[in-house]
Amino acid sequence: MDRNRLNSNRQKGPNNRYGMRNAGFIALIILLLLVLYSAFHQPSNLKTIPITTAIKNANSGEYSKFAVNGNEVQITVKGQSKPTLKTYEEPNATLKTEGLNYSKVTVSSSPQTSSSSTWIGILETIGPVIAIGVILYIMMKSAQGQGNQALSFGKSRARLYGNEKDKVNFKDIAGSEEAKQDLEEVVEFLKFPKKFASVGARIPKGVLLVGPPGTGKTMLSRAVAGEANVPFFSISGSEFVEMFVGVGASRVRDLFAKAKKNSPCIIFIDEIDAVGRRRGSGMGGGHDEREQTLNQILVEMDGFEQGQNVIVLAATNRADVLDPALLRPGRFDRRVNIGLPDRKDREAILKVHYAKKPLAKAVDLDALAAKTAGSSGADLANIANESAIIAARNSHSQITQEDVTEAFEKVAIGPERKSKVMTDSDKITTAYHEAGHALVGHVLPDSDPVHKVTIIPRGGTGGVTWFIPPEDRLFISLVQFKDMLARGMGGRIAEEIILGPDKITTGASNDLQNAAEIARDMVINQGMGKKLRDQVFKHDDGMMLDRLVHEREYSDETAKVIDDEVENLITEAANRARTVIKANLKYLEKLKDLLLEKETVEAAEVTEVLKGAKMPSSAALY
Ligand code: ADP
Repeated sequence: MDRNRLNSNRQKGPNNRYGMRNAGFIALIILLLLVLYSAFHQPSNLKTIPITTAIKNANSGEYSKFAVNGNEVQITVKGQSKPTLKTYEEPNATLKTEGLNYSKVTVSSSPQTSSSSTWIGILETIGPVIAIGVILYIMMKSAQGQGNQALSFGKSRARLYGNEKDKVNFKDIAGSEEAKQDLEEVVEFLKFPKKFASVGARIPKGVLLVGPPGTGKTMLSRAVAGEANVPFFSISGSEFVEMFVGVGASRVRDLFAKAKKNSPCIIFIDEIDAVGRRRGSGMGGGHDEREQTLNQILVEMDGFEQGQNVIVLAATNRADVLDPALLRPGRFDRRVNIGLPDRKDREAILKVHYAKKPLAKAVDLDALAAKTAGSSGADLANIANESAIIAARNSHSQITQEDVTEAFEKVAIGPERKSKVMTDSDKITTAYHEAGHALVGHVLPDSDPVHKVTIIPRGGTGGVTWFIPPEDRLFISLVQFKDMLARGMGGRIAEEIILGPDKITTGASNDLQNAAEIARDMVINQGMGKKLRDQVFKHDDGMMLDRLVHEREYSDETAKVIDDEVENLITEAANRARTVIKANLKYLEKLKDLLLEKETVEAAEVTEVLKGAKMPSSAALY
């Protein structure tokens, strides 16, 4: 497997919707059982006998009691404590007319019930009602996800952060200087609204924070609240919507009502794109619930009056898909961009997260910052936390360089799976596969250098060859993309050359998927196809509430040309990898042997082993 960047490990999304459906389903089953129970459960199972038989037997002294209730007569046989028989009186067949001898039996005018059976009767009647009530209560509660808001579907589930201990300030956020500067202004609006009102300035109502996940958008919003010392209501776009149409809109109403009561304050809407996508996009005619929710947000924002000092901060990583109505003046008309941190900022973020941890002096955070190009603040926070966990597990009193390295590799490519048993032949195949990636990457001029090669399974892969750019890159050139594709194909091609074309394995499936993704990105988004040079094609893949959106704005003919371009790029990459490996078979064998011996080979050793490997001129692009 070929790796060259950290993946963000963070996940967001609808939370307890499935839990609620489950609760509903269980409740439905219990309800059904109750209905069946009450339908079939007869509280009294007295045997009915004709009134004439009853009178005859009573007169011959067989019964002790008759209890008359309406036209039903319950009969207790002598020697027994409860009635076991019953009969019915009619206008022309009553106890009297049928000739009952009243001295032979006690006749009372209500059914004989012991006090315990009264209670059972009452319980049997109201028990199911209580049970249904309790089930409904539990359902509502689970729908709310918060115990104290039972029976309030339409209430917003915003979390309020106002406590001192929750407080975040700008100083807790490393880097992101420009974003902080932009937001400094929002702090001023909240702190000194009069200063702006006195000169007739309109305070902005909405600020859009745009940036990849984990770059600290939520944290920055909380810091704005912390700096201005105002309450902070936080909700995620996907939380507006539950099972029922209209719930989202009423949640929005409730959220804004609460916020207005607590003015001045901040409302933070995370993942605004979940509700704020362009209306009508991809759904073949719109989506009622989402539109209602979005409309309500717009109505509420338009309805802010002067002096109602509530500022809405909204976060997204897809500003391009937002409905233009959201971005109009008076709504989210300000934008703060937050990018992935550069090397200096990554080091600062690592320092913030290690500040309260016992870090050994020898640990080189600058080197770690250098290796983590492409990681977000959340990834770095994750590395810091993982290293502390690893140190604790190793019973270290301080976090050592080894703990930090292990944490970094675990976060970037998944934990080592040393216990996974590989057969010898799998090991050899993996060694050739990884050596293939490394050799092609090493030889091609525009590839990042090899950082490490291992045949110890990690995460879900058999082995990993890891390339890390020597420095942060702003852009990727066409030749860099092509070398990336070729080294990605290196594993499969090494298998093909060594094992034979029919013996290739599933070990390359991840590489092939990555290659296809890169090639498609080159053609569609970067204008780097051969025929389709300098043209981009609009398409939109993403989540809209709970559905996936696939939208493309090009014809079927163009789609076919795109597919051909992708295929050509991948074939070209495979051919280049083949040329490189065939010309350097000796080095492939050497690296394979070293991998089998040591399992993990570091950058310096790779360079040493592959010294002398040459790029054949036929693999050159220019
Ligand atoms: P987002 O809202 O952009 O997805 P968050 O604000 O939720 O990101 O960030 C997640 C975590 O990442 C934070 O709790 C924090 O620990 C860490 N983090 C992100 N950026 C920074 C930063 N600039 N400085 C310090 N920590 C950061």
